[in-house]
Amino acid sequence: MKNERPYIIAENNWKNISSESFDLAVLPWGATEAHNYHLPYATDNIQLEAIATESARNAWTNGVKVAVLPCVPFGVNTGQLDIPFCININPSTQTSILNDIIHSLEIQGIKKIVILNGHGGNNFRQQLRELQARYNSVFLSTVDWFKVVDPNSIFEEPGDHADEVETSLMMHIAPDLVGDLELAGDGSTNPSKISAIREGWAWAQRDWLKATNDTGSGNPSKSSAEKGKRLLDELSQKLASFYVELAQADVTDLYQKTQ
Ligand SMILES: [Zn+2]
Repeated sequence: MKNERPYIIAENNWKNISSESFDLAVLPWGATEAHNYHLPYATDNIQLEAIATESARNAWTNGVKVAVLPCVPFGVNTGQLDIPFCININPSTQTSILNDIIHSLEIQGIKKIVILNGHGGNNFRQQLRELQARYNSVFLSTVDWFKVVDPNSIFEEPGDHADEVETSLMMHIAPDLVGDLELAGDGSTNPSKISAIREGWAWAQRDWLKATNDTGSGNPSKSSAEKGKRLLDELSQKLASFYVELAQADVTDLYQKTQ
């Protein structure tokens, strides 16, 4: 059988892999959690699979050999432990898993890795600081997909969870898994009573069931598949251009000298 998507490692066989050399690996990392009343628990992972696939396809057609690894489906959800089937993986556990994945890829000669993050509770910068110091021959980087495109350029009321952005993406990628928008909550959130936290210059983890009213954060009512398609197209183009630049970069000579 001919492999139509050679950039998806899970769909490859040893015959393909042993005759190919890859420029970089992309590791999508999501979460399993409640997304208002209308989106499925795997929303973050389904979105990531689509974003990783489309961006890799785009880069592959530009000559860059991208290897998309299977998505890690559980993320940091310490603020949602009281919501059934929100599965938490602690940051320290993530560091161990990341270490083992990077260690495997390093032995196999992969030189560049992108952690593609799809969940707000994950934040891989600190882990990559620690792991980069441990691995000299692999260049580590991370992208939060939700920070790649300015949501205000496409959406009327972007929020940050199960909102117009995520709902539109899911309407485009997996419409059969999107519930009736009439039954969705309005995604309103309850601000902290502490002003420094409300103003955003002090931070504390949100107790999700108290900070939200339907587990969503952001109103999904103006979502559309057309907006979702536009976002996916823009995301995959921008990510692909990052993969191309990264693949071509000499990581020992990354800085433009100013003097
Ligand atoms: Zn989400």
